[in-house]
Amino acid sequence: MNFLEERIVKDGIVKPGNVLKVDSFLNHQMDIALMEEIGREFKRRFGHKTITKVMTIEASGIGIAAFVAREFGVPMVFAKKSKSVNLDGEMFVAEVESFTHKNKNQVIVSKKFLQEGEHVLIIDDFLANGCALQGLISIAESAGAVVEGCGIVIEKGFQIGGRVIRNLGYHVESLAIVDAMDAENGTITFREQNN
Ligand code: 5GP
Repeated sequence: MNFLEERIVKDGIVKPGNVLKVDSFLNHQMDIALMEEIGREFKRRFGHKTITKVMTIEASGIGIAAFVAREFGVPMVFAKKSKSVNLDGEMFVAEVESFTHKNKNQVIVSKKFLQEGEHVLIIDDFLANGCALQGLISIAESAGAVVEGCGIVIEKGFQIGGRVIRNLGYHVESLAIVDAMDAENGTITFREQNN
């Protein structure tokens, strides 16, 4: 098991409805030493690529993406959830359905902060059905940016997102892939990965 899988086994809680709770170390309270390690691990996996910007979606991607951006020495931009319908044309927009909240949000990135020809690394905490990633990819591509890869902290391999995004040809790296989890007895099964 890698450092993250060990932490998930120790502190993750399997909830009914295919939800893994990791709010004691990842997306509510954050273990900063772990964040640094996650940042270094994504640098190791994507360091051979030219990255000019790290991109994520609010809220829980922000903390993680900040540590990744620090490793690459580039800015981080996050897509904001927006309720306003009168977007003024200064924004790239995508619609994202939330896996955890079951609602749809428009997410926006200002055109000022994403330019044609940029090399983007997309980061998020979870990959489930892939809606968040697809929204971010669509925003990056509407800007004329190149999506160099997607770095995911925890992929739920029993949901379709990972397969869909990889089949579209994107380079997805997940630090932990959960292939099965059981809310009744709390067991979590990870996919073997060679990294
Ligand atoms: P997707 O768009 O791939 O269906 O879901 C990804 C988003 O939903 C992530 O940004 C994450 O915030 C949230 N999410 C999906 N599954 C889980 C989960 O099992 N636990 C937590 N805490 N968040 C999740």
